[in-house]
Amino acid sequence: MTILTIKNWLDPVLRKKGAPVENIDEAIVKLTEDMFETTLDAKGAGLAANQVGMAHNLFVVDMGIQKGEHDLVTLINPVITAMEGEELAEEGCLSIPEVFATVKRALHVEIKAIDINGNDVRYEAEGFMARAFQHEMDHLNGSLFWDNLGKARRDLLKRKFKKKQKEMVE
Ligand SMILES: [Zn+2]
Repeated sequence: MTILTIKNWLDPVLRKKGAPVENIDEAIVKLTEDMFETTLDAKGAGLAANQVGMAHNLFVVDMGIQKGEHDLVTLINPVITAMEGEELAEEGCLSIPEVFATVKRALHVEIKAIDINGNDVRYEAEGFMARAFQHEMDHLNGSLFWDNLGKARRDLLKRKFKKKQKEMVE
């Protein structure tokens, strides 16, 4: 498995919508295995395909992370089928490193998708995992978490990002 380069928000691929996956071929399987490795390496909760430069309609998520375990699953052509409640919590993104903001999300979601073997799967999630699903769905729509915030807050976060980038280079 290969650790892939995670694109940051300045890369236009982050604005691309995921193209529906028609055929789970070897290239898709290899991509998701590499995305697992990349998520673990980056200590992330999930990763959408366009974050590694491949605008397919799929993401991976670590269902074990809250228990301090790893249980990485692939969701292909996912659809959120139910959303309930509201929760404010801090959120970050591997494509906007070192920048966090409070984002309002549904507390509870149900999601359906196809897994890597082509089987239908459904997940129900609450709190942190529900947030992770909504965050990854945003990526598949070409959105980023800060698009849910007002422009003033987004500009502030962009400045923070630039400052952090500068610090990392120096
Ligand atoms: Zn993200």
